[in-house]
Amino acid sequence: MLILISDAFDAGLTAKLEKFGEVTDDKSRVAEADVVLIRSKTKVRKDYIDNAPNLKLVIRGGVGLDNVDLDYAKEKGIIVKNTPAASSIAVAELAFTLMISITNHVAWADRTMHNGEWLKKQMKRTELYGKTLGILGLGRIGTELAKRAIAFGMDVIAYDPYVTSSDVATMKPTMKDVLNASDYVSMHMPLTDETKGLINSETLKEFKDEAFLINTGRGKTIVEEDVADALRSGKLKAFGNDVWYSDPPENTVLVDAPNVTMLPHLGASSKENLLRIGDIVEETIEEFISQ
Ligand code: NAD
Repeated sequence: MLILISDAFDAGLTAKLEKFGEVTDDKSRVAEADVVLIRSKTKVRKDYIDNAPNLKLVIRGGVGLDNVDLDYAKEKGIIVKNTPAASSIAVAELAFTLMISITNHVAWADRTMHNGEWLKKQMKRTELYGKTLGILGLGRIGTELAKRAIAFGMDVIAYDPYVTSSDVATMKPTMKDVLNASDYVSMHMPLTDETKGLINSETLKEFKDEAFLINTGRGKTIVEEDVADALRSGKLKAFGNDVWYSDPPENTVLVDAPNVTMLPHLGASSKENLLRIGDIVEETIEEFISQ
Protein backbone atom coordinates (compact mmCIF):
# COMPACT_ATOMS: atom_id res chain seq x y z
CA MET A 1 0.00 0.00 0.00
CA LEU A 2 1.26 3.48 -0.87
CA ILE A 3 0.32 6.37 1.41
CA LEU A 4 0.87 9.82 -0.09
CA ILE A 5 1.22 12.68 2.40
CA SER A 6 0.23 15.54 0.11
CA ASP A 7 0.03 18.47 2.57
CA ALA A 8 1.72 19.56 5.81
CA PHE A 9 1.28 17.14 8.72
CA ASP A 10 3.32 16.53 11.88
CA ALA A 11 6.89 15.59 10.96
CA GLY A 12 6.63 12.34 12.97
CA LEU A 13 3.64 11.03 10.99
CA THR A 14 5.65 9.28 8.25
CA ALA A 15 7.40 7.04 10.79
CA LYS A 16 4.05 6.24 12.48
CA LEU A 17 2.42 5.16 9.21
CA GLU A 18 5.27 3.03 7.83
CA LYS A 19 3.80 -0.06 9.54
CA PHE A 20 0.96 0.13 6.95
CA GLY A 21 3.16 0.28 3.84
CA GLU A 22 5.28 2.72 1.90
CA VAL A 23 4.84 6.39 2.82
CA THR A 24 5.84 9.21 0.47
CA ASP A 25 5.42 12.95 0.13
CA ASP A 26 6.27 12.80 -3.59
CA LYS A 27 3.12 14.22 -5.19
CA SER A 28 4.14 12.97 -8.63
CA ARG A 29 3.31 9.46 -7.36
CA VAL A 30 -0.41 10.20 -6.95
CA ALA A 31 -1.27 7.65 -9.65
CA GLU A 32 0.12 4.84 -7.43
CA ALA A 33 -1.37 6.05 -4.15
CA ASP A 34 -3.93 3.95 -2.27
CA VAL A 35 -4.34 6.53 0.49
CA VAL A 36 -3.87 10.29 0.19
CA LEU A 37 -3.55 12.57 3.21
CA ILE A 38 -4.53 16.19 2.61
CA ARG A 39 -5.23 19.34 4.56
CA SER A 40 -6.64 22.42 2.77
CA LYS A 41 -3.99 22.91 0.08
CA THR A 42 -4.49 19.84 -2.13
CA LYS A 43 -7.72 19.99 -4.14
CA VAL A 44 -9.19 16.55 -4.70
CA ARG A 45 -11.43 17.39 -7.63
CA LYS A 46 -12.48 15.29 -10.64
CA ASP A 47 -9.16 15.64 -12.51
CA TYR A 48 -7.18 14.71 -9.38
CA ILE A 49 -9.34 11.62 -8.83
CA ASP A 50 -9.09 10.64 -12.50
CA ASN A 51 -5.29 10.75 -12.14
CA ALA A 52 -5.38 8.46 -9.11
CA PRO A 53 -6.82 5.11 -10.28
CA ASN A 54 -5.61 3.24 -7.14
CA LEU A 55 -7.06 5.72 -4.69
CA LYS A 56 -9.32 4.14 -2.06
CA LEU A 57 -9.13 6.48 0.92
CA VAL A 58 -8.69 10.25 1.29
CA ILE A 59 -8.09 11.59 4.78
CA ARG A 60 -8.51 15.33 5.23
CA GLY A 61 -6.60 16.42 8.36
CA GLY A 62 -9.00 19.08 9.61
CA VAL A 63 -12.67 19.99 9.31
CA GLY A 64 -13.79 21.55 6.01
CA LEU A 65 -14.27 19.18 3.08
CA ASP A 66 -14.86 21.93 0.53
CA ASN A 67 -11.57 21.02 -1.22
CA VAL A 68 -12.87 17.52 -2.03
CA ASP A 69 -15.43 16.61 -4.72
CA LEU A 70 -17.41 14.34 -2.41
CA ASP A 71 -19.94 13.26 -5.05
CA TYR A 72 -17.29 12.21 -7.57
CA ALA A 73 -15.25 10.45 -4.87
CA LYS A 74 -18.36 8.50 -3.87
CA GLU A 75 -19.07 7.60 -7.49
CA LYS A 76 -15.53 6.20 -7.73
CA GLY A 77 -15.91 4.25 -4.46
CA ILE A 78 -13.33 6.38 -2.64
CA ILE A 79 -13.85 6.74 1.09
CA VAL A 80 -13.36 10.30 2.38
CA LYS A 81 -12.71 10.93 6.07
CA ASN A 82 -11.79 14.03 8.04
CA THR A 83 -10.69 14.71 11.60
CA PRO A 84 -13.43 17.13 12.66
CA ALA A 85 -12.94 17.17 16.41
CA ALA A 86 -9.17 17.56 16.44
CA SER A 87 -8.95 21.24 15.50
CA SER A 88 -11.66 22.84 17.66
CA ILE A 89 -9.42 24.13 20.45
CA ALA A 90 -6.71 25.33 18.06
CA VAL A 91 -9.17 27.35 15.96
CA ALA A 92 -11.15 28.67 18.95
CA GLU A 93 -7.91 29.90 20.55
CA LEU A 94 -6.96 31.62 17.30
CA ALA A 95 -10.37 33.30 16.96
CA PHE A 96 -9.95 34.51 20.54
CA THR A 97 -6.42 35.69 19.74
CA LEU A 98 -7.76 37.77 16.84
CA MET A 99 -10.60 39.18 18.94
CA ILE A 100 -8.31 40.28 21.77
CA SER A 101 -5.61 41.49 19.36
CA ILE A 102 -7.80 43.74 17.22
CA THR A 103 -9.45 45.30 20.24
CA ASN A 104 -6.05 46.05 21.81
CA HIS A 105 -4.26 47.15 18.59
CA VAL A 106 -1.55 44.52 19.05
CA ALA A 107 -0.51 44.34 15.37
CA TRP A 108 -0.73 48.12 14.84
CA ALA A 109 1.23 48.85 18.02
CA ASP A 110 3.92 46.34 17.16
CA ARG A 111 4.26 47.60 13.57
CA THR A 112 4.58 51.25 14.62
CA MET A 113 6.96 50.52 17.52
CA HIS A 114 9.24 48.71 15.06
CA ASN A 115 9.08 51.90 12.96
CA GLY A 116 10.27 53.96 15.94
CA GLU A 117 6.81 55.54 16.46
CA TRP A 118 5.10 56.04 19.86
CA LEU A 119 1.32 56.17 19.26
CA LYS A 120 0.18 55.78 22.88
CA LYS A 121 -2.34 58.66 22.61
CA GLN A 122 -3.86 57.41 19.34
CA MET A 123 -4.38 53.87 20.58
CA LYS A 124 -7.62 53.62 22.55
CA ARG A 125 -8.20 50.05 23.67
CA THR A 126 -11.60 48.43 24.23
CA GLU A 127 -12.21 45.79 26.90
CA LEU A 128 -13.92 42.52 26.13
CA TYR A 129 -15.46 42.45 29.61
CA GLY A 130 -19.20 43.17 29.54
CA LYS A 131 -19.37 43.19 25.73
CA THR A 132 -21.56 40.97 23.58
CA LEU A 133 -19.99 38.37 21.35
CA GLY A 134 -22.19 37.10 18.52
CA ILE A 135 -21.19 33.73 17.11
CA LEU A 136 -22.35 32.70 13.64
CA GLY A 137 -22.26 28.90 13.48
CA LEU A 138 -22.38 27.36 16.96
CA GLY A 139 -20.71 24.02 16.25
CA ARG A 140 -17.56 22.60 17.82
CA ILE A 141 -15.34 25.66 17.32
CA GLY A 142 -18.04 28.23 18.06
CA THR A 143 -18.85 26.41 21.31
CA GLU A 144 -15.18 26.36 22.41
CA LEU A 145 -14.94 30.08 21.64
CA ALA A 146 -18.10 30.78 23.66
CA LYS A 147 -16.58 29.07 26.74
CA ARG A 148 -13.48 31.27 26.49
CA ALA A 149 -15.53 34.44 26.00
CA ILE A 150 -17.64 33.65 29.09
CA ALA A 151 -14.42 33.35 31.12
CA PHE A 152 -13.64 36.92 30.02
CA GLY A 153 -17.03 38.19 31.25
CA MET A 154 -18.64 38.52 27.81
CA ASP A 155 -22.31 37.89 27.01
CA VAL A 156 -22.48 35.29 24.27
CA ILE A 157 -25.30 35.06 21.73
CA ALA A 158 -25.37 32.91 18.62
CA TYR A 159 -27.16 32.20 15.36
CA ASP A 160 -27.17 28.71 13.92
CA PRO A 161 -30.21 27.46 11.98
CA TYR A 162 -29.37 23.87 12.95
CA VAL A 163 -28.83 24.39 16.70
CA THR A 164 -31.79 25.16 18.92
CA SER A 165 -30.24 25.32 22.38
CA SER A 166 -26.84 25.67 23.99
CA ASP A 167 -25.34 25.70 27.48
CA VAL A 168 -22.83 28.39 26.53
CA ALA A 169 -24.71 30.85 24.31
CA THR A 170 -28.17 32.36 24.03
CA MET A 171 -29.52 31.25 20.66
CA LYS A 172 -31.19 33.90 18.50
CA PRO A 173 -33.77 33.02 15.85
CA THR A 174 -32.21 35.09 13.06
CA MET A 175 -28.76 36.28 12.05
CA LYS A 176 -30.10 39.85 12.14
CA ASP A 177 -30.85 39.47 15.87
CA VAL A 178 -27.21 38.55 16.47
CA LEU A 179 -25.74 41.27 14.23
CA ASN A 180 -27.94 43.99 15.75
CA ALA A 181 -26.77 43.20 19.28
CA SER A 182 -23.10 42.19 18.98
CA ASP A 183 -20.01 44.25 19.71
CA TYR A 184 -17.91 41.38 18.30
CA VAL A 185 -19.04 38.95 15.61
CA SER A 186 -17.08 35.75 15.07
CA MET A 187 -17.75 33.47 12.11
CA HIS A 188 -17.59 29.67 12.42
CA MET A 189 -19.74 28.32 9.60
CA PRO A 190 -18.75 25.89 6.87
CA LEU A 191 -18.70 27.16 3.27
CA THR A 192 -22.00 26.11 1.68
CA ASP A 193 -24.40 27.58 -0.88
CA GLU A 194 -26.22 29.13 2.09
CA THR A 195 -23.18 30.71 3.72
CA LYS A 196 -21.28 31.90 0.63
CA GLY A 197 -21.12 35.72 0.71
CA LEU A 198 -23.30 35.84 3.83
CA ILE A 199 -21.53 38.92 5.16
CA ASN A 200 -22.11 41.50 2.42
CA SER A 201 -23.19 45.13 1.97
CA GLU A 202 -26.77 44.30 3.03
CA THR A 203 -25.99 42.22 6.13
CA LEU A 204 -23.22 44.64 7.16
CA LYS A 205 -25.95 47.28 7.62
CA GLU A 206 -27.31 45.14 10.45
CA PHE A 207 -24.06 45.31 12.45
CA LYS A 208 -23.77 47.73 15.38
CA ASP A 209 -21.69 50.78 14.49
CA GLU A 210 -18.00 50.19 15.17
CA ALA A 211 -18.43 46.44 15.62
CA PHE A 212 -15.45 44.10 15.39
CA LEU A 213 -15.53 41.17 12.95
CA ILE A 214 -13.47 37.99 13.15
CA ASN A 215 -13.43 35.24 10.53
CA THR A 216 -11.67 31.94 11.12
CA GLY A 217 -14.35 29.93 9.25
CA ARG A 218 -14.08 30.18 5.48
CA GLY A 219 -12.96 33.19 3.39
CA LYS A 220 -15.78 33.04 0.87
CA THR A 221 -18.46 33.51 3.55
CA ILE A 222 -17.70 37.24 3.36
CA VAL A 223 -17.68 39.60 0.38
CA GLU A 224 -14.22 41.11 0.84
CA GLU A 225 -15.01 44.34 -1.09
CA ASP A 226 -18.05 45.00 1.14
CA VAL A 227 -16.10 44.34 4.33
CA ALA A 228 -13.32 46.66 3.10
CA ASP A 229 -15.94 49.40 2.44
CA ALA A 230 -17.38 48.91 5.94
CA LEU A 231 -13.88 49.29 7.42
CA ARG A 232 -13.25 52.46 5.38
CA SER A 233 -16.58 53.99 6.43
CA GLY A 234 -15.95 53.10 10.08
CA LYS A 235 -19.08 50.90 10.25
CA LEU A 236 -16.69 48.12 11.22
CA LYS A 237 -14.00 49.13 13.68
CA ALA A 238 -11.62 46.30 12.82
CA PHE A 239 -11.46 42.90 11.15
CA GLY A 240 -9.36 39.92 12.19
CA ASN A 241 -9.06 37.41 9.36
CA ASP A 242 -7.47 33.98 9.01
CA VAL A 243 -9.26 32.66 5.90
CA TRP A 244 -9.16 33.74 2.25
CA TYR A 245 -10.68 33.25 -1.18
CA SER A 246 -7.54 31.25 -1.97
CA ASP A 247 -4.45 30.23 0.00
CA PRO A 248 -2.48 32.46 -0.33
CA PRO A 249 -4.91 35.24 -1.32
CA GLU A 250 -4.49 36.84 -4.75
CA ASN A 251 -5.12 40.58 -5.01
CA THR A 252 -7.30 40.76 -1.92
CA VAL A 253 -8.73 44.24 -1.33
CA LEU A 254 -8.27 43.67 2.39
CA VAL A 255 -4.54 44.38 2.07
CA ASP A 256 -5.31 48.08 1.58
CA ALA A 257 -8.30 48.36 3.91
CA PRO A 258 -7.78 49.98 7.32
CA ASN A 259 -7.72 48.07 10.62
CA VAL A 260 -7.36 44.56 9.22
CA THR A 261 -5.23 41.99 11.00
CA MET A 262 -4.35 39.24 8.53
CA LEU A 263 -3.17 35.73 9.30
CA PRO A 264 -2.04 33.08 6.79
CA HIS A 265 -4.72 30.44 7.61
CA LEU A 266 -3.14 29.45 10.93
CA GLY A 267 -6.31 28.15 12.62
CA ALA A 268 -5.40 24.49 12.61
CA SER A 269 -1.64 24.95 12.76
CA SER A 270 -0.97 24.34 16.44
CA LYS A 271 1.63 21.73 17.33
CA GLU A 272 -0.91 19.93 19.53
CA ASN A 273 -3.53 19.84 16.79
CA LEU A 274 -1.13 18.33 14.26
CA LEU A 275 -0.29 15.59 16.78
CA ARG A 276 -4.01 14.94 17.42
CA ILE A 277 -4.66 14.82 13.66
CA GLY A 278 -1.77 12.36 13.24
CA ASP A 279 -3.27 10.03 15.87
CA ILE A 280 -6.67 10.12 14.16
CA VAL A 281 -5.10 9.50 10.71
CA GLU A 282 -3.35 6.42 12.12
CA GLU A 283 -6.62 5.11 13.63
CA THR A 284 -8.51 5.79 10.41
CA ILE A 285 -6.02 3.82 8.28
CA GLU A 286 -6.05 0.99 10.82
CA GLU A 287 -9.87 0.84 10.63
CA PHE A 288 -9.79 0.99 6.83
CA ILE A 289 -7.35 -1.93 6.61
CA SER A 290 -9.31 -4.08 9.06
CA GLN A 291 -12.58 -3.71 7.10
P1 NAD B 1 -19.16 22.28 12.99
O1 NAD B 1 -19.80 21.50 11.89
O2 NAD B 1 -19.06 21.67 14.34
O3 NAD B 1 -19.90 23.69 13.16
C1 NAD B 1 -20.35 24.47 12.10
C2 NAD B 1 -21.70 25.04 12.49
O4 NAD B 1 -22.12 25.94 11.47
C3 NAD B 1 -22.77 23.94 12.61
O5 NAD B 1 -23.33 23.96 13.91
C4 NAD B 1 -23.79 24.32 11.54
O6 NAD B 1 -25.10 24.06 11.96
C5 NAD B 1 -23.54 25.82 11.41
N1 NAD B 1 -24.09 26.39 10.19
C6 NAD B 1 -24.27 25.78 8.98
N2 NAD B 1 -24.87 26.64 8.13
C7 NAD B 1 -25.07 27.80 8.82
C8 NAD B 1 -25.65 29.05 8.48
N3 NAD B 1 -26.16 29.28 7.28
N4 NAD B 1 -25.67 30.02 9.43
C9 NAD B 1 -25.15 29.80 10.66
N5 NAD B 1 -24.62 28.62 11.05
C10 NAD B 1 -24.58 27.64 10.13
O7 NAD B 1 -17.73 22.69 12.45
P2 NAD B 1 -16.51 23.27 13.31
O8 NAD B 1 -15.60 22.16 13.65
O9 NAD B 1 -17.02 24.15 14.38
O10 NAD B 1 -15.81 24.13 12.16
C11 NAD B 1 -16.47 25.27 11.62
C12 NAD B 1 -15.76 25.76 10.38
O11 NAD B 1 -14.48 26.28 10.74
C13 NAD B 1 -15.40 24.65 9.37
O12 NAD B 1 -16.48 24.37 8.52
C14 NAD B 1 -14.25 25.24 8.62
O13 NAD B 1 -14.77 25.95 7.51
C15 NAD B 1 -13.65 26.22 9.61
N6 NAD B 1 -12.29 25.84 10.04
C16 NAD B 1 -11.29 26.74 9.87
C17 NAD B 1 -10.00 26.42 10.28
C18 NAD B 1 -8.88 27.40 10.13
O14 NAD B 1 -7.73 26.97 9.98
N7 NAD B 1 -9.12 28.69 10.21
C19 NAD B 1 -9.74 25.16 10.84
C20 NAD B 1 -10.78 24.28 11.01
C21 NAD B 1 -12.07 24.64 10.61
